[in-house]
Amino acid sequence: MEFHISEEHRKLQHRARRLAADFATRAAQHDRDATDPVENYAALRDAGFYGLNVPAELGGAGVGLFGWSLAAEELAQGCASTALSFNMHLSVVGPVMESPLVARETKERLAKMVVHEGKLIGGNFSEPTTSGLVGTAVPLARARRVDGGYRITGRKAFASMIAVADFCMVMARPEETAPPAAAMVLLVPRDATGKRVDKVWDTLGMRATRSDAMTLDECFVSDDALIVRADDIVPFRRHGANWFWGSYTAVYLGIAVAAYKTIAAIVKERTPPGYAQSLAYHPDVRRHVAEMSVDLEAARLLTYHAAWLSDTEGPTPATVAALYRAKYFVGEAVTRITRTAMTLGGAHALFKTSPLERLFRDGAVAPVQFPPRDFCLASLGLLELGLDPADVLPPLKTDRPDVGPIVR
Ligand SMILES: Cc1cc2nc3c(=O)[nH]c(=O)nc-3n(C[C@H](O)[C@H](O)[C@H](O)COP(=O)(O)OP(=O)(O)OC[C@H]3O[C@@H](n4cnc5c(N)ncnc54)[C@H](O)[C@@H]3O)c2cc1C
Repeated sequence: MEFHISEEHRKLQHRARRLAADFATRAAQHDRDATDPVENYAALRDAGFYGLNVPAELGGAGVGLFGWSLAAEELAQGCASTALSFNMHLSVVGPVMESPLVARETKERLAKMVVHEGKLIGGNFSEPTTSGLVGTAVPLARARRVDGGYRITGRKAFASMIAVADFCMVMARPEETAPPAAAMVLLVPRDATGKRVDKVWDTLGMRATRSDAMTLDECFVSDDALIVRADDIVPFRRHGANWFWGSYTAVYLGIAVAAYKTIAAIVKERTPPGYAQSLAYHPDVRRHVAEMSVDLEAARLLTYHAAWLSDTEGPTPATVAALYRAKYFVGEAVTRITRTAMTLGGAHALFKTSPLERLFRDGAVAPVQFPPRDFCLASLGLLELGLDPADVLPPLKTDRPDVGPIVR
């Protein structure tokens, strides 16, 4: 592993740490009320984070996935929901900036919006029926060409910060074309006519992401809303996998770090009556802490390495394999670490007022957050064995016997 943390990276980490300290003062309340952390999004804008992964030549900070992973790890320690939702902004801006399929003028337009106009962009490719299993690379939502723009109709789901982001990037199938994998990506303004947010997000964890559902009913967007259109959208999605899918991992790493730090402080402080030493001196506690630290360090190294590969090699099979490895392992590690922290915290940790209780619930989301753990393993197996996904049997019977499922 050849990566190293540069001075620039350290400065970014430091800026993220300061933001996280402020976010932490509101995290419990936003979690309890499942409210949008709008103050945090404003603070991220003021700190110049909206243009973080816009190339320097377009006015952004030109930070790659490695730099963002270091920053996300810090932000998540303050408020994991904020870090995850804000990641959605970077996770859609990044692929647009890096894709050879997106026109230069479109990149410039988006760069201007996020860097100079401070626009926050959500991303909503998921629909109620979306699955990582088979054949859902193409959306059911439809876009129809009309005078001066497009009309979009469809139902979207799990749209983080949808009510407060200035725009939401959505994927829709062009109504008039036939190729099975044809799709277009469009920017829907927050107040677009024909757009409705359905407030359904009342969940176990990541409550302040407000990943609600969205209904688009003949929703009009103008010509300049179009980001990219392709007869086969799969290469666009694959090329952007580092940001689309790989960028969440560090957020969950941050949750594990927070749980580890919190419980380490608790066991060092808590001295049961009748004893002269804190719980930290108990051999079983020490062993649990040691196990957590192994998990944490392995998770961190896998995350950093995958991000570094992404920055240096681009979306090669080795990079994609590393991203899946990292997401899988971080999901398992954060689940183990938050559970052990809850156990060591005892009954005190069960209270809604305990940060460990929130970290436990937020951490539980990690293995199902896209790409889910089983998807990671299934895809990693193919990559490790050098198999073409088109050559393996679909895991379930296809409903398209003529063409077969569209393999991601
Ligand atoms: C907190 C949160 C915020 C989100 N925010 C957004 C957002 O802003 N925008 C957006 O577009 N989407 C968002 N999503 C949605 C997410 O990206 C997925 O699209 C959505 O979770 C897919 O639904 P699913 O998990 O029910 O389905 P599935 O992907 O079908 O997963 C269900 C289970 O099926 C199994 N599985 C799936 N694929 C495979 C495979 N290939 N091999 C083996 N097993 C497999 C796994 O066990 C998996 O856990 C968010 C999700 C969460 C949890």
